[in-house]
Amino acid sequence: MALRQILTDEEPALHKKCRVVTEVNDRIRTLIDDMTETMYHSNGVGLAAPQVGVLRRIAVVDAGTGLYQLVNPIILEQTGSACGMEACLSVPEKQGYVLRPENIVVEALNRNGEKIRIEADGYLAVALCHEIDHLDGIVFTDRTIDPTEEQIAEAERRAQEATEQLGLNEEEPDEPMPQVDVSTLRGKRRIRLVKPTIGG
Ligand SMILES: [Zn+2]
Repeated sequence: MALRQILTDEEPALHKKCRVVTEVNDRIRTLIDDMTETMYHSNGVGLAAPQVGVLRRIAVVDAGTGLYQLVNPIILEQTGSACGMEACLSVPEKQGYVLRPENIVVEALNRNGEKIRIEADGYLAVALCHEIDHLDGIVFTDRTIDPTEEQIAEAERRAQEATEQLGLNEEEPDEPMPQVDVSTLRGKRRIRLVKPTIGG
């Protein structure tokens, strides 16, 4: 296994639609292993192939409930909507509020090319949506919203759940990351995060 360099969102690769993987072979498995190692090394909860410069539909996710290595993942079903704070390994030092479905069903191939189905909610659903977005050239900064007070409260509650799920310590970060510049943001409201935000 080897660490791969994570591209930032100035790179065109982060904004392109990735191609379907037609055969899950050893080359793909090597890429999956490298992505997994790179994700853990960077303290991310997910990583998508375009983030390491490979325009193929591959993502790895570990949101504290186990490792998923996914080839050609698609969202089959989605219900509900919830606001959460997101960050991204390809967008350093930024975070923003994003609306995501509360429950999703994802179908994908695993590293052996076998079809798997994941029913996800909470932070896992967010991480899966975030990574699958990457495969379509969408970065979370394309989706950030100007939240209502209720959405901010909801995001803080979900961050608390995520913190527990990930087994992170309860300490607050010294300096919250600056928010994505949302053109519609009212005034210069600065949100202090209750818990650290981990990106993917
Ligand atoms: Zn990301």
